[in-house]
Amino acid sequence: MIAFDNSYARLPERFYARVPPTPVAAPALFALNEPLARAMGLDPAALDAATLAGNRLPAGAEPIAQAYAGHQFAGWVPQLGDGRAILLGEVVGPDGRRLDIQLKGAGPTPFSRMGDGRAWLGPVIREYLVSEAMTALGVPTTRALAIVTTGETVWREGPLPGAILTRVADSHIRVGTFQFFAARGDTEALRILTDVVIARHYPGVEGALGLLRAAVAAQARLVAQWMGLGFIHGVMNTDNAHVGGITIDYGPCAFMDAYHPETVFSSIDRHGRYAYARQPQIAVWNMAQFASCLLPLIDADRDRAVAAATAAVHAFAPAYEAAWSGLFRAKLGLATAQEGDAALAEGLLALMAAQGADFTRTFRGLATGTAAAEFADPAPFRAWEARWHARLAAEQRDLAAAQAAMRAVNPAVIPRNHRVEEAIAAALAGDRAPFDRLHAALARPFEPAGDLEAAPRPDQVVGVTFCGT
Ligand code: AMP
Ligand code: MG
Repeated sequence: MIAFDNSYARLPERFYARVPPTPVAAPALFALNEPLARAMGLDPAALDAATLAGNRLPAGAEPIAQAYAGHQFAGWVPQLGDGRAILLGEVVGPDGRRLDIQLKGAGPTPFSRMGDGRAWLGPVIREYLVSEAMTALGVPTTRALAIVTTGETVWREGPLPGAILTRVADSHIRVGTFQFFAARGDTEALRILTDVVIARHYPGVEGALGLLRAAVAAQARLVAQWMGLGFIHGVMNTDNAHVGGITIDYGPCAFMDAYHPETVFSSIDRHGRYAYARQPQIAVWNMAQFASCLLPLIDADRDRAVAAATAAVHAFAPAYEAAWSGLFRAKLGLATAQEGDAALAEGLLALMAAQGADFTRTFRGLATGTAAAEFADPAPFRAWEARWHARLAAEQRDLAAAQAAMRAVNPAVIPRNHRVEEAIAAALAGDRAPFDRLHAALARPFEPAGDLEAAPRPDQVVGVTFCGT
């Protein structure tokens, strides 16, 4: 029994298409996130494979595919929408939090275009592991409630086992959802959507301008957190930009091993539009698209609306810089703010880039005294370290206390690409042990994790990721 309360399905019909999941041949549970189920007030026993595969529609579910549009690699697509995801409904947990329950890979919808509406086990495992790791790392994100295998074959480069991810989120409303209505001149829908997003993500905020300001601030914090972890989203299209400032749509995403600001993993990102270091700029671009959707709601006078929206988008840079500086200060164990702290952090990053030092291990190593080992030539690092120690001496706490604080912000274990691939390959071969082991370690990312802390050997490096389709 799931106590649904489906607010989105009560919006006007043009916000979605009503469509049930397409049943699959042989649903089997691969993973169930019981702590999340309980936090949502769901009885894990109600989350059986048939329900999570869409074969059995639970009472109160009102399955819909949400309409949205978007810019993909800056090219405008007037209609995208949930082509392989179906929102079963919403639940309000014991903490009062309203959450969407969505089946990703649940079959075709009116938005599927040429797609089959399905997903295969690889990207489903990747999203489950990475989104749950992000949660443990304190990064706002969609969650993963379950994985079921479908017993069906999905055809990509070849035959692959089908799977469905149950995704949970405070909403699935994207910049592209606003763009869908803005492109149609549907100001009434934009007004409704604005109220929905304020209620679900920014309670207390007033009006479209207030929403824009809040969304820009949340986006700036989010991207700073990605940068602090070496995370590359991979497809920051406006349909994958969540207006609530949470990470959504884990496709060809990855965490960097060797640090370089121009790193790109996605096989489809040929020009590096979504490279690591470009993520803040792209977030601004996405927020500018959001702002342009809201213009008619901000002010009836177009010039005044543009001026206010522009100022709101320009607030990204200082918000991002403040968040970035705060995060990297913490990563360096600095409890107080001083002039030159950002330059100190940038100095380290430049050394790391020059030598391809491992991002996660270098920062963790600062906290454990082993960072020098990440550099083939440690001399420049030693010089930087002397500056850092001099800066630490200006703190009220000693090095040991600073290092303890650093171990709570610089993770020991992240979902490294080769480990994710290893878990997927093993699962395909019927061995779930690597998945379970990695999943367990990622739930406690700040604790020592033995060999899971290791960087890939050269023969293990996975430098390309493929879209989750
Ligand atoms: P994504 O690249 O995952 O952000 O998806 C972009 C668009 O393509 C969205 O509208 C998706 O719903 C749609 N899409 C992706 N994969 C499939 C698929 N296998 N079947 C149908 N639609 C899909
Ligand atoms: Mg998407």
